[in-house]
Amino acid sequence: MAYLSLYRKYRSQTFEEILGQEHISSTLANAIREDKVAHAYLFTGPRGTGKTSTARILAKALNCVNGPTPQPCGVCPSCVAITNGSSLDVIELDAASHSGVEDTRDILQGVALASAGSNKKVYVIDEVHMLTTPSFNALLKTLEEPPEHVIFILATTEAHKVLHTIQSRTQRFDFRPIPTDVIAKHLLDVAGKESIDVEPDAIDIVARHAEGSMRDALSTLDQLSSFGRRVTAVDVERLLGGREDDAYAELFDALAQGDLGSIFWSVHSIVAQGADVRQVARGALAHARSLLLLRTAPDAGELIDAAPADRMTMTTQSERFTPSQLLRIVDLLAKALTEMRDAPNHRLLLEVALIRSASPETDPSATGLLGRIERLERRIGIEGPVPQVEAAAPAPAARPPERKPASASAPQAAPKPAAPQAAPAQGAPEPEPTTSPSAIPAEVGFGHIKDAWQQTLREVSKSSKRVHALLNPSRPTKYDDGALAVEVQSEFHAEEMSNDRNRDMVIEALHASLGIKPSVTFAAAGSKQSTSPPEEDDTSVVDISDTAPAAADLDPIELLKKGLGAEVIESDTDKR
Ligand SMILES: [Zn+2]
Repeated sequence: MAYLSLYRKYRSQTFEEILGQEHISSTLANAIREDKVAHAYLFTGPRGTGKTSTARILAKALNCVNGPTPQPCGVCPSCVAITNGSSLDVIELDAASHSGVEDTRDILQGVALASAGSNKKVYVIDEVHMLTTPSFNALLKTLEEPPEHVIFILATTEAHKVLHTIQSRTQRFDFRPIPTDVIAKHLLDVAGKESIDVEPDAIDIVARHAEGSMRDALSTLDQLSSFGRRVTAVDVERLLGGREDDAYAELFDALAQGDLGSIFWSVHSIVAQGADVRQVARGALAHARSLLLLRTAPDAGELIDAAPADRMTMTTQSERFTPSQLLRIVDLLAKALTEMRDAPNHRLLLEVALIRSASPETDPSATGLLGRIERLERRIGIEGPVPQVEAAAPAPAARPPERKPASASAPQAAPKPAAPQAAPAQGAPEPEPTTSPSAIPAEVGFGHIKDAWQQTLREVSKSSKRVHALLNPSRPTKYDDGALAVEVQSEFHAEEMSNDRNRDMVIEALHASLGIKPSVTFAAAGSKQSTSPPEEDDTSVVDISDTAPAAADLDPIELLKKGLGAEVIESDTDKR
């Protein structure tokens, strides 16, 4: 017998088995019970969410020997024929396959003529938005006067492309992406029945990667079933081509730094892994939403669909943005996604949205203006202590953002912050988006190490996935006189990391990311060695000559010109 894919083998056969779409299956079951089944349905939603399966179950429910019944028996000739795809009562057409277009038209024109038997004929037209105009017209005509014995189920992943005249003649059901935990539970169930030995962590990754599509999840499990040994999380990551979460973390690091070059590279590397650009935009939007949630309501972290370790990484990353910055990013990405519906150049739209996110001066909207004002406030009031050096002092653009509690370090003469709510200066974007990740500061402080920590971890992962895993999560807690203290998850992790080989890997990674080779010690979270709060140490690295903007950058006229695009129309100097 030919190999049956897991997706086909475990396809839902009853309304109860349809996962994650209870709102639809219960409505349909009720309609059958009350004999109120419509003549035409529009099933919309992402692929792999159960549209075609639901259509088949509806056909079975109507034609079962016990029917119409919401619980088709599954064993009568009609049920069996529909299950194995040989029923003459269910006609499935795929509008996406071009060869069938003319057939589609013929079949549609023949619908009205088909003799009415005792059985209901169910026409399932998949990807209905792809029908050619003649086929659409034939369909429309049929829907205007549907024959008594015919039911149409139009399925589409892109509802907005279905003509309004068609939509208005159908009852619409929106299939939702299946929740990750529902997919994971089903995968575990199937893996158990098929004796596929797979770690629960690996299952979680497969489920998350499927992004709501049970079909994608099961086809990944299909691939894993051929491993012939226990499947680990690392196997899955390798199979799925790198961790998407890491890719988005990288993208948002670049956004936080306003590093346009890295933004383009991040998008490129995600797309190069085979992701659809809209999928990338959705992924970035989801990441921005998670950061916003963590930034504004840390207690709500549970609502984020991510592994606990990733959640910790995201919490750290969220602190590099202000809530209004994150809101702006969410806004711009959502807008880009909407525009992608009608425009062909998806990648351009995504990149423009990201550049606007990173550099408010390119965004003419009110929120862009707010972003620019926030940045000016930070530069005047918090980031910019009164310069005690000549204009030749290094511009801040050449350094990674310094993290420091502003109140503790601002000199007496520093101007008051223009707006107190702008006070958290952590992770402020670079004043000029010109920093390249390779720019190595002359003197590296604790703030630099913290900012570059994710980058350092990625360097580690290039050498060893295992060591990278040991460091996930981890955070630098102290840097003093060439000695760096790092907090890791547990005593076990600290001990493992303390062997020379693993420690050297971290030192090499620090050398690659920051050009330093400190001595490194590891301690478990909460242990004595790691309890000193990092904030206390931060002040030690604040050095005015390090962070003071060039004098020209503090000239109010220059700030208005650069930050807000102001023009000098008339000045006293000109009159003279
Ligand atoms: Zn039956």
